[in-house]
Amino acid sequence: MNLLVRNVRIENAADTTDIRITDGRFSEIGPFLEHHGEEIIDGAGRLCLPPLIESHVHLDTALTAGEPRWNESGTLFEGIEVWSDRKKFLTHDDVKDRVRRAVRQQARFGIQYVRTHVDVTDPDLTALHALLEMREELADHITLQIVAFPQEGIDSFPDGRGLMRRAADLGVDAIGAIPHFEFTREYSVSSLDFAVDLADEFGLLVDVHCDEIDDEASRGLETLATRAYERGMGSRVTASHTTAMHSYNNAYFLRLLRLLQLSGINFVSNPMVNTHLQARTDTYPKRRGVTRVKELTEAGLNVSFGQDDIVDPWNPLGTGNLRDVVLNGLYVTQMMGHQQILDSHRFVTHNAARTLCLDDYGIEPGNSADFVLFDAPTWYEALSFNAPVVASYRGGRLIASATPLEHDVHF
Ligand SMILES: [Zn+2]
Repeated sequence: MNLLVRNVRIENAADTTDIRITDGRFSEIGPFLEHHGEEIIDGAGRLCLPPLIESHVHLDTALTAGEPRWNESGTLFEGIEVWSDRKKFLTHDDVKDRVRRAVRQQARFGIQYVRTHVDVTDPDLTALHALLEMREELADHITLQIVAFPQEGIDSFPDGRGLMRRAADLGVDAIGAIPHFEFTREYSVSSLDFAVDLADEFGLLVDVHCDEIDDEASRGLETLATRAYERGMGSRVTASHTTAMHSYNNAYFLRLLRLLQLSGINFVSNPMVNTHLQARTDTYPKRRGVTRVKELTEAGLNVSFGQDDIVDPWNPLGTGNLRDVVLNGLYVTQMMGHQQILDSHRFVTHNAARTLCLDDYGIEPGNSADFVLFDAPTWYEALSFNAPVVASYRGGRLIASATPLEHDVHF
């Protein structure tokens, strides 16, 4: 695939530039490149970003909201009950069909990488088998990373450890845990030890649903970060949610921050879903229920944003569009300075790439020619005006496109 992409703004650059793609890879980047007979794409001064990355979603539960009933309380825990009932009716084709639909939707919004958690507290591992097949089927268009996610616990679920080990044997990319859902504090710690050991044994990544609760005493994170630090695994370990951190007292948070910096672990925040699910037991003042994104970022820690749920028991809405997630995240974390807004694409591009441990990512000579064009000159305008992704290229091939939005105002 040889292309010459003219006149784009790479990552909010003030000036436009050209990009040459040779055999599916970026080969030259600079202004006014000579034409070597390639197909020419006119970028029309548009924003060019590396592909968007969904760093935390549950594709196995996507598009099931209302089945067999709706989550009327809006709590995480009613969501888990509803899903437990829906899980009984899972079939291989049901999962594959919903995953295919959700991923095609994500592709429309410029997403090319997806880390999906898959519930493995199911003796048949139905969803996992389906997701492993989908990872192969989609590989040319979307990279799926699969996390073995013990939705109902590791040490608190019958044969939880055995199921996690089977998932590792079957070829997942990462090992999960859910310490705040385990029966006891002891199980919380032992389940984290087990998860880190298992990941180490199989050479896998770690991504834990960590302290997704408003309980300020939920402190799985310190255990996870300590294990990551002591084993030198930090860059391969992710703490998702960490919403309890919202409620930690500042003295504890400051002590914890040192450990987090030493460990170098990654964080994923899911601002839309956690503002919806958390603080349901509060009257007023009502907490926001989102981890300390601003403080972690300022302390040099890597944070990315995820959608978490798309039309399922934990989120009745959601399209998969990460623009909505970033917009909501900026509001709720009060990161609304102009430079903060301009930089915020990093929550769903470079920061997420670091979380997923991707190499071969980014608009640089030598890398795979993966990029998206927004119908806006900068990320600021793209966010403000909900600009569509007009083109998503992977290895120099167009995998999704949209026409720019046209509006008429009749006055
Ligand atoms: Zn999740």
